[in-house]
Amino acid sequence: VSASGSGSISTDSEQTPVRVDSQDSQVSDGEAVDRTWPRQNSLSMREWDIPFDELKIGEPIGTGRFGTVYRGNWHGDVAIRVLNMDYLDDEKTLEAFKLEVATFRKTRHENLVLFMGACMKLPRLAIVTSMCKGMTLYTHIHTCKDKFNMNKTTMVAQQISQGMGYLHARGIVHKDLKSKNIFLENGKVIITDFGLFSVTKLCFGNRKGNTLSIPPGWLCYLSPEIIRSLRVRRKHDEEELPFTKASDVYAFGTVWYELLCGEWPFKAQPPEAIIWQVGKGMKQSLANLQASRDVKDILTLCWSYRPSERPDFACLLKTLEKLPKKRLARSPSHPIHLSRSAES
Ligand code: ADP
Ligand code: MG
Repeated sequence: VSASGSGSISTDSEQTPVRVDSQDSQVSDGEAVDRTWPRQNSLSMREWDIPFDELKIGEPIGTGRFGTVYRGNWHGDVAIRVLNMDYLDDEKTLEAFKLEVATFRKTRHENLVLFMGACMKLPRLAIVTSMCKGMTLYTHIHTCKDKFNMNKTTMVAQQISQGMGYLHARGIVHKDLKSKNIFLENGKVIITDFGLFSVTKLCFGNRKGNTLSIPPGWLCYLSPEIIRSLRVRRKHDEEELPFTKASDVYAFGTVWYELLCGEWPFKAQPPEAIIWQVGKGMKQSLANLQASRDVKDILTLCWSYRPSERPDFACLLKTLEKLPKKRLARSPSHPIHLSRSAES
């Protein structure tokens, strides 16, 4: 199985074991992880507490690394993420969960999934959000092999930047921006799964002996500073991966590449090779990408080795807005590399 993703990857539960040297060096030039959590008073938290019994849980939609998402009903159609209790078994983790809920309830933006509430009583923890009706960008790009023309590609990227810019302005780091967490509903982008704390648990929970299990299609979103801090974690090692606003921007670069090329960077390369290259500051070659300089610059900048050299989403939005719009109405399924000449 290739961790960079290819047609061979079928389920989320597949794991690629990778040996990671636990002595690996830690990078130090990253920006500090955002920890600007608000202090919560119990009254305001109660407003968001949904009694588990009020939820009508339907069919499971899928299982990701934080548990299973179900179709459900709570005053209408909703998506219910029931958290995986294997990792959520103590009061300390419950507190962490409540902080995540506090993060969610601060978000109101048309490009972000609507948070409706959460079940916050052990042992039943769940997050209730609006149900996204469309398909994810992942399904469009990698399953249906849809080709977006440049106008649509830019429009999608603008909306992602808008939603992400909002999150960052509120001090929220997404930590898991990827095409699977971006839905497209009638041309409107909806970003899901921001700030789920359990990414850390990935490295604890999925430890098997001396290996670190990496879900397929995850590595290519990880910035060099995160790649360099991946290691086999000791049992009570609480160290978190250094996710920052800049690491979200790196992940956005990968989504931009997927939109342009229809595949992941480092396609079909083994995880060890990706870890080595990204950790050393090497990037996916853009030689075969027939796109304008401005379009390629976005990739190069988002994938900058130094977090401080990556643009922020406000800046990305400006750049995207300046990209030339094509007025020629070609077939929507026209492959992007053939429709480029007018822009470069
Ligand atoms: P991943 O994002 O890695 O696919 P998740 O655990 O986040 O894993 O999601 C599991 C499944 O539930 C996926 O198929 C995802 O598209 C779907 N899903 C998650 N949230 C929603 C939502 N709000 N509306 C509709 N489907 C959702
Ligand atoms: Mg998800």
